[in-house]
Amino acid sequence: MFIDVTCRVCGWSDPGDPEELWHGGTPLHAVCDCCGSESGVQDVSWRTALRARKAWVDGGAPWFAPGARPGDWDLSAQLEKVRSRRVPTPG
Ligand SMILES: [Zn+2]
Repeated sequence: MFIDVTCRVCGWSDPGDPEELWHGGTPLHAVCDCCGSESGVQDVSWRTALRARKAWVDGGAPWFAPGARPGDWDLSAQLEKVRSRRVPTPG
């Protein structure tokens, strides 16, 4: 069973407390602490995820839950990681 704990929009995954976003092919409608995307909504396809990522980055990449932001958070490293991911998505 494929469990995805990394946001498909922004690439965030809480290293201390990873949240399940997708379980197999089913989105759990969890909201990303980083970009605020909801699994199964903005990330339902690569196209919608890319669009949401662009809108988020263009808006200054604000944290949805600023308290969850690590002190050494690196936006470009995170984006690099998400761009290199290839995860099967429905649609
Ligand atoms: Zn995110």
